[in-house]
Amino acid sequence: MAKITLDNLAHSYLPNPKSEDDYALKELNHDWADGEAYALLGASGCGKSTLLNIISGLLHPSQGRILFNDRDVTMAPTTQRNIAQVFQFPVVYDTMTVRDNLAFPLRNRGADAAYVRDRVQQIAAMIGMEASLDRKARGLTADVKQKISLGRGMVREDVNALLFDEPLTVIDPHMKWELRTQLKSLHHEFGHTMIYVTHDQTEALTFADKVVVMFDGRVVQMGTPQELFETPEHTFVGYFIGSPGMNVLDAKVTGDTAVLAGTQISLGKGFGTPTGKTELGVRPEFTSLQAGNEGLPVTIKRVEDVGRHKIVRADFHGTEINIIAEEGVNISPDMNRVVFDTAGINIYEDSWRVAPLVA
Ligand code: ADP
Ligand code: MG
Repeated sequence: MAKITLDNLAHSYLPNPKSEDDYALKELNHDWADGEAYALLGASGCGKSTLLNIISGLLHPSQGRILFNDRDVTMAPTTQRNIAQVFQFPVVYDTMTVRDNLAFPLRNRGADAAYVRDRVQQIAAMIGMEASLDRKARGLTADVKQKISLGRGMVREDVNALLFDEPLTVIDPHMKWELRTQLKSLHHEFGHTMIYVTHDQTEALTFADKVVVMFDGRVVQMGTPQELFETPEHTFVGYFIGSPGMNVLDAKVTGDTAVLAGTQISLGKGFGTPTGKTELGVRPEFTSLQAGNEGLPVTIKRVEDVGRHKIVRADFHGTEINIIAEEGVNISPDMNRVVFDTAGINIYEDSWRVAPLVA
């Protein structure tokens, strides 16, 4: 297992990249700690697979270095990196049995037969395929084949890292949950460095210790689920994580007050005087509806009952504000103000979070 360091890394698929826009992966300096489980989260096209393929060696970066435990592997072929990678779609040898498919990476490395037999049995149990070990892979459905691919990815205990690129895309929803749980327990058991790519926040937040959020070729934040919730470093993290995501409103900020479409509110702490495009971010969990004249004037558009709580969609001068109200809370028509809990307010300048001033 290894610590993985990305040093000044960037990648463009173009032969002569000119501007930053030409880079699928913008300059990146980053350490992946040995033995941690990471999720790499972001929308389609943001550069997740590009980054993963650079780590595994399928792709050579146009700039920078990759180190495994401080050894430069930038130009090393995949076989020398000792990495297991599982892709979005199954890669299975049709003419081989399920057993031989699972055993392949071990036999390839010259593992002894008794070990191979036991380890294959153990992995087959994890993916629920003990009963089909001796049948040929040909004719199996895509999701069963993908389980075999996952099993093959997990079969070696001596890898530097395990990389998963949206591996559960073709798996049915119930099995998805089960396999994700298996991956997690595998991580607890063996402590591999794992990087799990997904565009699904639930998958990311339930799988990983640390979530790395990518946006437009850039890592915008790396943090625990709690950090991503409480202090999104970029407005994209605010929108992308949460259900619904963070409310983002234009604001003019001076010290510890903000003016939003003519209404002044207190921020509870100072933020200096941001001069760029300034926005206030507040998650729906930190807002409440009230009657009276405190807070921002809003019009309620819709109330959605989603079981454990209600989501209120309100309009504030043409911008939607989402409010989460606890189940028992009555939403009455005279509630025409929204109030923010200052503990949940973040201020953004040109989309990046401004650190509050410490008194
Ligand atoms: P993700 O995995 O997050 O969906 P990718 O890493 O596959 O994103 O793609 C990042 C960007 O690079 C996209 O704009 C994509 O179109 C582009 N890209 C990906 N692979 C290639 C390639 N082989 N040649 C040219 N452009 C590519
Ligand atoms: Mg991808």
